[in-house]
Amino acid sequence: MARMMHKEVDGIKVVGFSLAGEESVVALPEYNVCFDVGRAPREIISIDNVCLTHGHMDHAAGIAYYFSQRGFLGNSPGRLIVHHSLAPLIEDLMKTWARIEGHPSEIEVVPVEPMQDVPIRRGLIVRPFAVNHVRTSLGFSVIEIRHKLKAEFHGKTGPELVALKKDGVEIEERTECPMATFTGDTALGRFLHHDFVRQSRVLIVECTFFESEHEVRARAGRHIHAEDLPEILACVPEAQILLVHLSRRTDFRTAKKTLLELVKPDDVERITFLMERPPRPQRGGDGGSERSRRTPSATSPAEPG
Ligand SMILES: [Zn+2]
Ligand SMILES: [Zn+2]
Repeated sequence: MARMMHKEVDGIKVVGFSLAGEESVVALPEYNVCFDVGRAPREIISIDNVCLTHGHMDHAAGIAYYFSQRGFLGNSPGRLIVHHSLAPLIEDLMKTWARIEGHPSEIEVVPVEPMQDVPIRRGLIVRPFAVNHVRTSLGFSVIEIRHKLKAEFHGKTGPELVALKKDGVEIEERTECPMATFTGDTALGRFLHHDFVRQSRVLIVECTFFESEHEVRARAGRHIHAEDLPEILACVPEAQILLVHLSRRTDFRTAKKTLLELVKPDDVERITFLMERPPRPQRGGDGGSERSRRTPSATSPAEPG
């Protein structure tokens, strides 16, 4: 589907679609990890690990369809990594769907607390952390775990190292390499000061609002406003930044112009948008009436999600 955007940020492939209140799903296929499920687009069904940031519908609507399609296509159930207080609700949801459909879908729900690492594969974990949106919101970092020889053993021969290992000497040290961090929906918060967030190669961060008159909306809904970007950039001085979750009411050219006004030229170069061109309006079942093409007006209620 052409709708999904494909990007490469600092060598990491990103596939996704993300508009506030409408749908947000961002996958890192090489890591077999997806952040949120959106409406479960076809491109993410083969990904085994879905990290759910929170329960708002634009992020979570496709959960049942994801599990169902996994089974339909003969895949293993797929894992939903989720805040522990949402896990029983999602299990209830799937039980209800089983009654509606007349048969259950296999599911695997992994309840987590902030800072509870989840192994993805050998040498790779995701680490959930608390963010500042709704009570059960989580961000996630994808972290490679590498083992390297301790400096004091450099210069030893192979047999010497084997002998040391046999004697129970710990000759390697574990290092963490944070590859990408996904904030989910959030306002600014203490999470930006975690070392693994600061050291991430890529920070995928929501930035829902750009216009100054939308600052009240951003604060009320606990979202990032473009005016927060300088503070974020200062926290992650090395990272490439991918902005997601723009409001559909923000014109993309306005967003770019605002960015140039708010952010230093050096920093502008390390920021990209997932949705670089305004997405085509979605057609309704009636073939695309004026109503379904209408974008939210500035007077419509505050963004869901
Ligand atoms: Zn949202
Ligand atoms: Zn939300």
